[in-house]
Amino acid sequence: MKFSELNLSPPLVRAIQEKGYEQAFPIQEQAIPAILAGKDVLGIAPTGSGKTAGFALPILQKRKPKSAIKNRFINTLVLVPTRELALQVATVFQSLSVHLTHPVKTLAVFGGVSINPQMMALSGTEILVATPGRLLDLVAHHAVHLSEVAVLVLDEADKMLNLGFAEEINRIFALLPAKRQNLLFSATLADKVTEIKTRLLHEPVVITI
Ligand code: AMP
Repeated sequence: MKFSELNLSPPLVRAIQEKGYEQAFPIQEQAIPAILAGKDVLGIAPTGSGKTAGFALPILQKRKPKSAIKNRFINTLVLVPTRELALQVATVFQSLSVHLTHPVKTLAVFGGVSINPQMMALSGTEILVATPGRLLDLVAHHAVHLSEVAVLVLDEADKMLNLGFAEEINRIFALLPAKRQNLLFSATLADKVTEIKTRLLHEPVVITI
C-alpha cells in the first residue's frame, strides 16, 4: 500500500518520500489507521519490521498544537529498554517531522550519562523517548510531568521486562492519567507481556507480523 492512501498529512508524506520509503510495510499499513482512529494497539512485530514509523507517523499527525501543552508536561511518552533504541526512535520522530508547520521537540533520555543536560533539554519537549529508570529520576527532579500524557508507547516490551524494568514501569503507569491511548509493541508475546497487555490495553487492535 502507498503511504498516500493512509490519510497522512502532506508534510508527513513528503518526509516519508525523502527517506526513500515507497510502500508502507505491513505493520504500518495496519497500525497507522488504528492509531489515527484513537485505538489501543498491540503490535507483535520484530525489530526491522518498520514499527517505529508505524507509531511515529500517526502520533505526529494527531498531536495537539504546542500552545495547548504546558512546559514540561509531555504529550507522548515512548518507553524503551536501551539507550540505543531511545536515540534511534527519537531520530525517526525527528526525521519524519521536518516539514511540519509547527515544529515538534522530541528528546531521548537514558541512564549512564549526566542528568543535568537532560533536565535542561526537557523544557519545551512534547515527545519524550525514555528508558524507565532515568525517566523516574527526571520525574523525581520535577524536570518532567507525566499527568498529561495522551499517548503511551511501550516499545520492545518483552526486552524491557527481560531487563527487569517491571517495577519501574508500574511506577510510571501510576503517574499517567487514566484517559490515554496505549500502544504496546513486542517481538514476542511472552507471559509477562500478556500480563502487561491485560492491564494496559483497552479493546486493542491486535497486529501480528
Ligand atoms: P524499525 O523496525 O522501525 O526499526 O525499522 C527498520 C528499518 O526499516 C529502518 O531502517 C527504517 O528506516 C526502515 N523502514 C521503515 N519503514 C520503511 C518503509 N516503508 N520502506 C522502506 N524502509 C522502511
